[in-house]
Amino acid sequence: MTGRTAGAKMGGILTLNAGSSSLKFALFGPAGEAPLATGLADRIGLQGSLRLKDSAGAALPVAPGSLTSHAQALHCVLDSLHAAFPGIGVGAVGHRVVHGGPERATHALVDAALLDDLATLSPFAPLHQPHNLAGIRAAIEAFPEAPQVACFDTAFHRSHPWVNDTYGLPRQLYDLGVRRYGFHGLSYDYIAGELARSAPALAQGRVVIAHLGNGASLCGLLAGRSIASTMGFSPLDGLPMGTRPGQLDPGVMLFLMDQQGMSPQDISDLLYKQSGLLGLSGLSNDMRTLEASPAPEAAQAIEYFTARIRLEIGSMAAALGGIDALVFSGGIGENSALVRAKVCAGMGWLGIEIDTLANEAHARVVSAAGAATDVLVVPTNEELVIARATRALAGGGERTAA
Ligand code: ADP
Repeated sequence: MTGRTAGAKMGGILTLNAGSSSLKFALFGPAGEAPLATGLADRIGLQGSLRLKDSAGAALPVAPGSLTSHAQALHCVLDSLHAAFPGIGVGAVGHRVVHGGPERATHALVDAALLDDLATLSPFAPLHQPHNLAGIRAAIEAFPEAPQVACFDTAFHRSHPWVNDTYGLPRQLYDLGVRRYGFHGLSYDYIAGELARSAPALAQGRVVIAHLGNGASLCGLLAGRSIASTMGFSPLDGLPMGTRPGQLDPGVMLFLMDQQGMSPQDISDLLYKQSGLLGLSGLSNDMRTLEASPAPEAAQAIEYFTARIRLEIGSMAAALGGIDALVFSGGIGENSALVRAKVCAGMGWLGIEIDTLANEAHARVVSAAGAATDVLVVPTNEELVIARATRALAGGGERTAA
């Protein structure tokens, strides 16, 4: 938005989720829960592209500009939003930040001290945190007057009991920050709130949420509070994902370093970019591609993915002392009837039984009538969690900066 100075426009909320080469964003009006627009700038630094759509999903025109850096991409995004919504300024900006550290259980208004503190956490999440912080700095530059709010993926999990927060390592490593932080907290926060609204009795019980997207994890909730997560110190642990292996014997790392001469960078690439569904199938990290493929390796990758989810549901149920509901969410959880069916197959011992027709129809409730455990499909909405927190912390989004 050119001319980003105080003016008479209505103060909207811009949400930003800055990845290594992408910038996901949404613009919310001064009130209301539906975004006016959502979009994605991806392949930033390469031959990037920007997509923007309105609340009905129709494509909106994007402003010309190069996507050579996150700051450039943000300018392009703002110019596009300004052209599409000339009456809406940006009153406050909410940011997804992967790591809030061991103590932070709530989201926070950004100031210089917080930014410095969050930068010290970059070694814990080197592939995400620096980009999240670059997004905040770019937004401060674009809107120096607007409150900026940091929303942490780790915050929702700070309620874990100590046994689910630690590893069996010498205590000084725990003090150094080697803990099970858990991630995807914004998604779990949204779903917990949605359950509390739509199924309050269930929300008071033992719920396992499966957030299955490119990243994937489970969260165990007791009365709406996270008590266990499959993700741990980093977003690598737990379930296999699009390009990450999930839980791995640390002996594999030692073997790769000592016997195969792999460098930390090689291992990082292996773990973050070459493993999981992509590595197992040799084909793709995308579930739709795997489901459509006749290759046996694609079927095996899906088999491994769903088998590990079943195992971890068992582990979450053990942490919770049982299970009242299983909730599927994320791009795969919301859209893949095949994955849901495979995850639920053979889980009758936990009271999980699926209704095939409801599952194929992507109904909200996909469990069989009379099954002891409810199985639900709940679309997640991380942007809305960021927008709500930003409104609350920035004073209702009333301040106008653009
Ligand atoms: P991210 O973690 O990047 O936000 P998403 O939550 O958007 O990812 O999930 C992306 C995953 O969802 C991809 O593996 C994609 O193939 C899968 N997905 C999306 N739609 C479908 C569908 N109709 N059937 C199966 N998988 C789907």
